Amino acid sequence: MIPLVDLARQHKPLKSQILKRISAVIDESTFTQGKDIGRFEKNFAKYIGVKYAIGTGNCSDALRLAVLALGIGKSDEVITVANTFVSTADAIVHAGATPVFVDCDEYFGIDTDQIEAKITKNTKALIPVHLYGQACDMAKILLIAKKHKLAVIEDCAQAHGAEYNGKKVGAFGDIACFSFYPGKNLGAMGDGGIALTNSKSLATKLSMLREFGQTEKYYHQFSGFNSALDNLQAAVLDIKLKHLDKWNTQRITIARSYTKQLTDSVEVPRERPTAKHVYHLYVIKTKNRNKLLNRLHSKKVFAGMHYPVPVPFQEAYRYLGHKRGDFPNAELNSKTMISLPIFPGMTHAEIDLIAREVRNFVGK
Ligand SMILES: *Cc1c(COP(=O)(O)O)cnc(C)c1O
Repeated sequence: MIPLVDLARQHKPLKSQILKRISAVIDESTFTQGKDIGRFEKNFAKYIGVKYAIGTGNCSDALRLAVLALGIGKSDEVITVANTFVSTADAIVHAGATPVFVDCDEYFGIDTDQIEAKITKNTKALIPVHLYGQACDMAKILLIAKKHKLAVIEDCAQAHGAEYNGKKVGAFGDIACFSFYPGKNLGAMGDGGIALTNSKSLATKLSMLREFGQTEKYYHQFSGFNSALDNLQAAVLDIKLKHLDKWNTQRITIARSYTKQLTDSVEVPRERPTAKHVYHLYVIKTKNRNKLLNRLHSKKVFAGMHYPVPVPFQEAYRYLGHKRGDFPNAELNSKTMISLPIFPGMTHAEIDLIAREVRNFVGK
């Protein structure tokens, strides 16, 4: 049996260290305001290369707070990509604004050649998503944002440690949001997220939004939310952060091996020349997708799909009135792609077995 992600393998060698830290947190019993939160926020901000970090309950909340912190609301439009996890778009809707979708390029990132055609007088921001662990074309995105005076929120939920032109993603936008959902490249033991920014005023706004809009306890300037990264998760994340680069290197090595073995059989992922891809997911494309997926599942290889339905075609977004053919790349991808298992600790034997199954199925 080979799962899509096996978290037990990354935790086993860290278990006693993590238990010790958790035990210290229990002794202090400061679960929502303990010192681990501030320490991890500082360390993560430093790792990415950004000044301020605001821990949140999850990345969906971080995205929502980011949109609100930028003052985006009713009658505003925010441009994002059609092929993402739904919460990128939900964050826009929760602020009362309208998501405007753009198709993706051959690297699964937002197609920067199609952004400007979607900008209107109501457009306030761009949300590029560094999908599967690979940076979008940030140079082009920042250029467009500057020209049209738009804010940029990076959705980095799948891209901890990914780089663009040697700089980490999360250090480009006005605000960047990361997820610490357990299966992400850096995962907590439960939910968690963070918003990063270099702007002091946005940092203040974000931290107020995550804590009831308060200036101090029981004094509320605007209505906010209750969404904090808790001390136990921060303690775990601070330990795991030190292993992130090593784990990403392992992911890259696994991806290289897959690519070498599969390049003649299926469409393997392409790497943007300016990007360091950290392979949150290893996504291939092939004609008989559903049959191959069933075949892999029958061999107990639990490959996945990210994602089977592009966001504009989700029931929740039907009101926007999109038609088949509006997002040709995203639509074709949703029908042809498979995410093969990839996680730190995966063995050569497992990689070879999966590659062999795929090759046998394709007959090449
Ligand atoms: C996982 C993910 C999110 C949401 O993260 P949570 O922490 O689960 O809320 C948002 N965007 C993308 C692209 C994701 O992969």
